[in-house]
Formats: sequence, structure tokens, C-alpha cells
Amino acid sequence: MATSTKGEEEQKGGGGSSSSSSTIHAKTLLKSESLYHYILETSVDPREPECLRELRRISAAHPRGVMASAPDEVQFLGMLLKILNAKNTIEVGVFTGYSLLATALALPHDGKILALDTNRESYELGLPVIHKAGVAHKIDFREGPALPLLDQLLADEKNKGTLDFAFVDADKSNYLNYHERLVELVRVGGVIAYDNTLWGGTVAAPPDAPLSEPDRMLSEITRAFNSTVAADPRVEISHLSIADGLTLCRRLG
Ligand code: SAM
Ligand code: CA
Repeated sequence: MATSTKGEEEQKGGGGSSSSSSTIHAKTLLKSESLYHYILETSVDPREPECLRELRRISAAHPRGVMASAPDEVQFLGMLLKILNAKNTIEVGVFTGYSLLATALALPHDGKILALDTNRESYELGLPVIHKAGVAHKIDFREGPALPLLDQLLADEKNKGTLDFAFVDADKSNYLNYHERLVELVRVGGVIAYDNTLWGGTVAAPPDAPLSEPDRMLSEITRAFNSTVAADPRVEISHLSIADGLTLCRRLG
């Protein structure tokens, strides 16, 4: 029988109040549930800002709540943004705004995030929390398919090399198209982070693994993306096994 991965385009999310609720194991590829709980209990729970906790709960209650990033992953992204001194950023794929809020909290007061999503409705679920957190002024949300919006940005030479950071977490079939645009939009030394690059671990599954058709297709797309960026001389990469896989591409000069 074909099995479905824990992939975000497939699964329904469960509720959960603390980050250590058992449903949250869907958000990691770690083999040991207790080890993942340990990470959440020792690093996320004591540090997670109340607004992120609130938006995580709102997102988990959504029928497609599994699409929201993992709490340890957004904690990592927040620290990465601070290490980079990021100010000018973009997010492709917003959903309820959970990773967006984590980004907004990590940026300085005059930081900016261009947030792209085809669906404004789900963003509006998180918007009251974003306002309450006092970071809405950093966000410029644009509704629509991301690719033409990125092309619009690229059409203006002045935008090239201006982004410090990009987080890509939308339609996986466009990741390579996003990469071609973003590699020109980020500055030298800037980072593009691609989410779900291990696709539930299926990228390493044997050819006869009993995967559902959507998973087989997404797994193939993800493998093609991974091998293309690994061979791209314009970036250096690091493929992290956090959450569902996160690939960092740092633009080289
Ligand atoms: N980054 C969010 C987080 O961590 O909370 C989760 C984003 S969710 C996995 C993917 C989002 O991508 C959905 O909200 C969907 O509407 C959006 N999306 C799908 N195709 C898109 C496209 N072509 N352009 C822009 N957004 C798209
Ligand atoms: Ca994701």
C-alpha cells in the first residue's frame, strides 16, 4: 500500500498547546520522538516569545496547519537573521505568517520583509498577532503567484543584490525558478533558505518504495533541486536535517 510522507502538502495538522505536544513530531525527521521533545523542551519552550506561541497555536488549529514551520526551525532562522545582520528580506510562501513573524521579530526596527503568497486569507489569520507584536510595519504582503512578482523586482536593476536573506517555502515545483531569480536578488554573502528539501526523508528512498503519487513526484522534484543547487558555482550550500530539511545557499562573489 502506498504511504504518504509527513509532507506539508499532504498532511492535516493537529492542535497542540506547548511545543512538546505529541502531534508536533510530524515536524521533524529525527528518529527519536523523545530526543525531539528534549530539544523543544530545553530550547524552544523556555525562549519562545508569547506572540510566536500564539500564532503557532492558531496555525495548528488550521486544517492545513502542518504547513507552518517547526518551532525549532523558526528559532534557528531567527538566530541566522541576527548573525547575518539581515535588514532586507523576502519570504516566498507565508501561510498564516508563523515563519514571517519569527523573521519580523529578528529584524531591526527598520527591517523589511517582502512577503509573497497566493492566499491572503490564511495570512489574515495571523495578522492580528503580528500587529499585536508591533512588527507589522516591517511587512509588505503581496498577494499573487511569486514568480511574476520576483520577475517584476528583477526588472529594476536597482533591486539586484539588495536582499540579505530569502526564505522559500512555497510550491516546490518552482524552487529552481525561484533560485534563478533570488540568486540575483540577494547580495554577495546573503543567504537563501529553502524549506522541505528532504521531503519527509523520501529523497533517499529506494526506487520501489511505496510512496503515494504526489509524494513520488515531489520527491523527484526535490532531488532534482538538491542536485542542481549542489552543483551551482554561484552559491555555497549547507543541507540541514532540521525539520523537513532546510538548504542554505550563501551567494558567492
Ligand atoms: N512559511 C510558512 C510558515 O512556515 O508558517 C508556511 C508556508 S506554506 C508551507 C506554503 C504557502 O505557499 C501557502 O500559503 C501557499 O498559499 C503558498 N503558495 C503556493 N504556491 C505559491 C505561489 N506560486 N506563489 C506564492 N505563494 C504560493
Ligand atoms: Ca515548509
